[in-house]
Amino acid sequence: MRAPRPPASTSSRWTGRPRALLRSLWLGRWALAAIALGVTLAAFAVSLEASTQQTRREAVRRLVIAEAVLRAAVDRYQYLPTVLALDRQVHDFLADVEAPDRIAAVNEKFEAIARASQVAAIYILDADGLTRGASNWNEPLTYVGRSYAYRPYFLDARAKGAARYFGVGTTTSLPGLFIGKAVPGPDGGVAGVVVVKVDLEGLQGEWRQAGERILVSDAAGVVFLASEPEWKYRPLRPLTETDAARIRNARQYGDSDLRPLAGSDFASGPVWLPAGPDMVRGVVEHVGMADLGWTIWYLAETGPALRQALLIALASGIACLAVIFGLAAANQRRRRLRSERAMRLGLERRVAARTRDLSAANDRLRGEIAERERATVALRATQDELIHAGRLAALGQISTAISHEINQPLAALRTFLSSTAVFHERGDAATVARNLERMTQVTQRITEIIRHLKAFARKTGPEHREAVGLRAAAESALDLVQARIRGEGVAVCCTIPPEAQVRAEPVRLEQVLLNLMVNALDAMREVSERRLELTAAREGDSCWRLSVADSGGGIAEKHMAQVFDPFFTTKTAGEGLGLGLSLSSLIVRDFGGSLAAANAADGAVLSLVLPAAEG
Ligand code: ADP
Repeated sequence: MRAPRPPASTSSRWTGRPRALLRSLWLGRWALAAIALGVTLAAFAVSLEASTQQTRREAVRRLVIAEAVLRAAVDRYQYLPTVLALDRQVHDFLADVEAPDRIAAVNEKFEAIARASQVAAIYILDADGLTRGASNWNEPLTYVGRSYAYRPYFLDARAKGAARYFGVGTTTSLPGLFIGKAVPGPDGGVAGVVVVKVDLEGLQGEWRQAGERILVSDAAGVVFLASEPEWKYRPLRPLTETDAARIRNARQYGDSDLRPLAGSDFASGPVWLPAGPDMVRGVVEHVGMADLGWTIWYLAETGPALRQALLIALASGIACLAVIFGLAAANQRRRRLRSERAMRLGLERRVAARTRDLSAANDRLRGEIAERERATVALRATQDELIHAGRLAALGQISTAISHEINQPLAALRTFLSSTAVFHERGDAATVARNLERMTQVTQRITEIIRHLKAFARKTGPEHREAVGLRAAAESALDLVQARIRGEGVAVCCTIPPEAQVRAEPVRLEQVLLNLMVNALDAMREVSERRLELTAAREGDSCWRLSVADSGGGIAEKHMAQVFDPFFTTKTAGEGLGLGLSLSSLIVRDFGGSLAAANAADGAVLSLVLPAAEG
């Protein structure tokens, strides 16, 4: 026996298209995830670049403002040493620096001007750099009597006529911008130098308060002004030996250790600077103040730009995912709609095909019904013909008895005629009249028999159905076989109540009863005691049962199942056709009733059950 084929289709289904589909779906997901990631990263890079550029532009803008403010602060007192250098009192003082009244006058003047112009200090050095007068003449840390011969602002002013120098005061340890102006002597040389010390510390506070991170470095790169105190006096790049020595010798920044502030090149790239407990990350923009040899730096924090770039990247990623999901959902919806449409179209096609099939079947059925109706009509007509033929055949069967029934009155008529002629010759008019009377009755009897036969032989149909009295029908049938009953000495007992009425065609009912009576008479031919009993009784609420019993010995058990079959007969050819009971059964069924055969003690009982005709 061959082994059954393995379910190849199942395995190939899973190794085939669906798996490839799954794989492509997963690949698709990875690709979508990669796209979303790419978009996020690109958005991050672009927005970071844009934000950084924006930050830089903002830094440049702020830087311009900061430079203008610093420039204003520096330039505000530029004129003051020049004015003082031209002052007659100053000149007179330098001519005799020992004169007490002149010292006092200069000190008081300087003090008043310093207070009025809000500078840190105003003082005057002689040609050797010794302080001869100062606005802080009466303070504990007064400059008076101190030598600043080594300080660059003195040396430069004496050499070049004017000097600007930022440094930490060696006496007060307070930083400031020192503006020096040489006072010419009468011999054309330098009689002394007037110095104005400007305090720029306030600027730093303003920067801090505004949240701006600004540094100002000198030509050597040392930060001397800064919004953060810890950035001050620290070089932005490692100092050269010469610069370091020069700064230390001039004690420009006091005792500061000059530790570099930033490890890398400050001018390029992002920088990290300590600010209190935190580190500040940012980009720097700078602008040079060439006349002062200073550079002003603006540090713009990149944290907010980074955060903004991250936010934008996140938003872009989410938007990208939303778009992807939206597209996927739309795609899925489109696919679902397409498959629904395909299903609907398939369904509609199937429904249309079914409808076509159904209407074809309907047409077929209608044709068959029409055919069946035609066949039924034809059958009905054939049945009617058959029943009529059966009735005529029954008449044929009893024709002998009928002719006997007619011959009898005819013979009587002949007898009456000859006797009447005799009585007429005798002149017995009374007897003639009586005979004529009797002859009339005899002819009436003949007319009656012929009328009955004519009525019985006529064609009838379902339209003749009416309420029929069972007794009248039985008497009509008995009338037809009257000759045989009399001739064969049959005792007839008819017990049918007059109210027994059924719905039937009278002629066909009479045909049925005639068949049953003829059969009963035929069966009783060989017996000595001949009895025919007709009884009727109610059958249920709506029917009447009419039984025709005889004493003919009954129906043989072996024939019982066949007696209603067409053409079944136990009679000799010419006596019976075998159609009586089958046609009777057909007629009774047509009335809505039934016909059954049974055996009683000494004969057969044929019972009719018919619907009662109420009222
Ligand atoms: P037919 O009378 O022409 O034979 P039927 O169909 O009327 O045809 O009857 C069929 C047969 O049923 C009869 O030949 C007879 O054998 C049997 N049969 C009918 N009625 C009786 C009866 N009352 N007693 C005995 N046999 C009967």
